[in-house]
Amino acid sequence: MKFSRAVSAIILILFIISGTGCEENLNDFDLFTGNNAPVYFTKAPESIKKDESASLCFYCGKPVEGIKDHFLRPLAVVISNSPQSRPQSGLQDACLVYEFPVKGEITNLLAFYNHPFTGDIGPIWSGSDFLLNLAEGKGAVLCHAGHSNQAQDTDTTKITSLNLISHPDYSWRIRNRKAPYNLYSSTEKLLEGNKTLSLYQTNKLLGLFKFQTESKNTQPNLNRIDIIFNPNYKVTYLYNEITSDFVRLVNDKEHTDVNTNTAIIVKNLIIMSTNITDIEALDSIGDQLKGNGDGLLVNCGNIYRIRWDKKINTPTKFYWNNGREITLNPGNTWIHITSPQNKVIVN
Ligand SMILES: [Zn+2]
Repeated sequence: MKFSRAVSAIILILFIISGTGCEENLNDFDLFTGNNAPVYFTKAPESIKKDESASLCFYCGKPVEGIKDHFLRPLAVVISNSPQSRPQSGLQDACLVYEFPVKGEITNLLAFYNHPFTGDIGPIWSGSDFLLNLAEGKGAVLCHAGHSNQAQDTDTTKITSLNLISHPDYSWRIRNRKAPYNLYSSTEKLLEGNKTLSLYQTNKLLGLFKFQTESKNTQPNLNRIDIIFNPNYKVTYLYNEITSDFVRLVNDKEHTDVNTNTAIIVKNLIIMSTNITDIEALDSIGDQLKGNGDGLLVNCGNIYRIRWDKKINTPTKFYWNNGREITLNPGNTWIHITSPQNKVIVN
């Protein structure tokens, strides 16, 4: 009797985890392994206290000192993540970072800034139509080092990206790294460029995430999560119960930020399951990240199964399985776009 109950429970859990299925899904997670794989929550957490304060950054939920400290439009900076580029500068101060696969078995990063900080940002890398769409979907100005058709041209009033190759006044080359891994800038310089080039033509402040009042989780059920992008590149997050955030590792070594000289700390992790293997290749076939699929939200020591939905020129939305939008803990968020070849291991 006990055995049959257990079997029924397992079947029920598998049914819940597998979801209802949808033809539009880009890809659904189907493989999670680990010696001590935790329970995956499929429901929204109870008793969410939403903070309605208008003085919170809509990217990271942190209090900002008045509306003048918000950017009129956020900055979305393309940052290289090749071995020659690490450690980078400015990742810890980004409100939001996307990590996505590109050819050559590496990932690159798109860092969003919605308030100023003193410190370098870089190495800045080439943009693409895909990244332009990702930035514009959030009302942000893409800041990049050239190469893409749309993203390259800043001469017309319709373009909303800042090409630092054709407008070198708003960046600089550092001497202790070889080109092309030495292009750096700052929020101050990038804002100056956007203002001079009249890229602030539309106030497109778009709400992105909903934030909840953070509550400490006294019973975390997750210690670490590994995202294996390929045999030579693995990202690991180690949970810190005391501070309720994660330390980021690359290939088992701390991923540091030059500005802080410490390992990058992340509050919220999101993993999007897609069939994308090379984001730069998407541009050559005119494709974009759109559609919907499975995802994972990891914060406060728990892991949740969520869904994502992306339409052209709109922010990606994330939902609990009851259809409500997810809520995040105040702090920075890293969103990882994964392909079917990638593996996620939770312990
Ligand atoms: Zn912020």
